Amino acid sequence: MRQFMYVFLFSFAHVLSESDFAKFDGAPPSKIAVVGAGIGGTATAHFLRQHFGPEVRIDVFEKNSVGGRLATVSVNNQEYESGGSIIHSLNLHMQDFVQQLGLKYRKSVAGKTAVFNGEEFIVEETDWYLLDLSRLWWRYGISFIRLQMWVEEIMEKFMRIYKYQAHGYAFSSVEELLHSLGGSGFINMTRRSLSESLLELGVSQRFIDEIISPIMRVNYGQNISIPAFVGAVSLAGVQANLWAVEGGNKLVCSRLLKLAKANLIQSQVTSIELRSMGEYPQYEITTSSQDKKTSEVYDIIVVATPLQQNVDTGISFQGFEPDLPEMPGSYHQTVASIIHGYLNCSYFGYPDPKLFPFSSILTTDASELFFNSATSICPVNITSGFRRKQPQEAGVYKVFSPKPLEKNELKTLFKSYYSVQVTDWLAYPQYGSTQGLPPVVLHDGMYYLNGIEWAASAMEMSSVAAKNIALLAYHRWNRQFEMIDQKDLMHKVKTEL
Ligand SMILES: Cc1cc2nc3c(=O)[nH]c(=O)nc-3n(C[C@H](O)[C@H](O)[C@H](O)COP(=O)(O)OP(=O)(O)OC[C@H]3O[C@@H](n4cnc5c(N)ncnc54)[C@H](O)[C@@H]3O)c2cc1C
Repeated sequence: MRQFMYVFLFSFAHVLSESDFAKFDGAPPSKIAVVGAGIGGTATAHFLRQHFGPEVRIDVFEKNSVGGRLATVSVNNQEYESGGSIIHSLNLHMQDFVQQLGLKYRKSVAGKTAVFNGEEFIVEETDWYLLDLSRLWWRYGISFIRLQMWVEEIMEKFMRIYKYQAHGYAFSSVEELLHSLGGSGFINMTRRSLSESLLELGVSQRFIDEIISPIMRVNYGQNISIPAFVGAVSLAGVQANLWAVEGGNKLVCSRLLKLAKANLIQSQVTSIELRSMGEYPQYEITTSSQDKKTSEVYDIIVVATPLQQNVDTGISFQGFEPDLPEMPGSYHQTVASIIHGYLNCSYFGYPDPKLFPFSSILTTDASELFFNSATSICPVNITSGFRRKQPQEAGVYKVFSPKPLEKNELKTLFKSYYSVQVTDWLAYPQYGSTQGLPPVVLHDGMYYLNGIEWAASAMEMSSVAAKNIALLAYHRWNRQFEMIDQKDLMHKVKTEL
């Protein structure tokens, strides 16, 4: 049934043909709406402004806080990331934003990681790189070299997107985008499990259970049956050269809105209605804020929030013939608890906290474990003399768990604590809860950003999707079909230089 829905959506999206566009008279759109002011929506507003120019009005609707899943909580007058926190050095859109917006990079503060299996640490990082390397070699053979080569090859192919986008090429579906980067191999990676792909690569089961599985648990709260593509993105995220934005990642969103000269409308979109299918299809957005309903008509709409049922955006789509089907699948619950207190090092086998050397504890897929990870975290503003708190001192920790922590679980992890702040996220797709990838084109002038999360959910993925949608909307509006879904782009891009 779900598979059917996707097939249906795609055929619906492709109904629009060149002859439909031939009806357009070349006038630019006058009003564009973006629903959602997370990194996806705000980056879309920014790229739309770049492509459509200064005249078009861009309204961005947000029902909660600008930033969406990029958010902070406050402990003792310091802010800490509670949602999306880490950015890879090769995430070029995020880098670009930070530079253009005059923001600063915040480098990760060094700290050691260990893997806990519910009884003891089975992997422990030391101060000695060579010692760690030889231990890895002894325990896992060449698995980690195979893995590194695999991740690097995928990243290298993924990086092609920046070239294609710089040359103005757009894709009408996530499949087309992935295919242009890594051929059918990339598409298959969204369908096969990570464990299957790694075993085929010659990575040992032990390495998968003791290293890969803990990484999937901390990054996506899920296990190694997660698809290989998102698994590779997750593994890239544990490499060196990670950073965040000084002052908080969500600053990128508010600043992008300003740079784009977009109007932020702080209200919930309750319906999107097809108003006319004439020369220019138009859509009416109705919003509600403090019991006040307002409606406005737009030429182009970008929906930049997940539309899965359990996310409950409260948007109803009306007047579409046939009805737009519901998005199948669900979003995964991950609870982020920010705890200010004293870690219970005895629970981890270190009665003397002064001897506890780790700042980050990952966990294996053991059934008795009630948490995915526990990490000593740094505030979003760090001074040059900043040092991490030692375990014998009260520190700020982020614990990820599948459910809110019970009192006895908190008491297990912490000797005592001053405060606990809980954010219950619908954090990323529940991978495997549906087959296939959601559409980008929902209707002639209506686009959907968050389908890309089903390939992999990350700030950079939303930014890549934002650039793609801005280009796609622009080319479709201007009937530049030669810029959409072009094959053999590697060759084309080379010869265009
Ligand atoms: C705990 C956690 C840890 C993560 N860690 C990382 C990480 O380290 N690195 C990384 O790259 N990514 C990470 N991610 C993923 C990353 O945060 C997301 O992929 C990204 O922020 C998604 O951005 P978005 O704009 O696409 O969606 P969202 O941020 O969800 O934005 C959607 C916005 O739409 C608004 N909205 C919804 N419905 C309506 C409506 N009807 N009307 C008006 N507004 C509406 C919402 O309020 C929201 O603000 C993490 C996510 C979580 C939750």
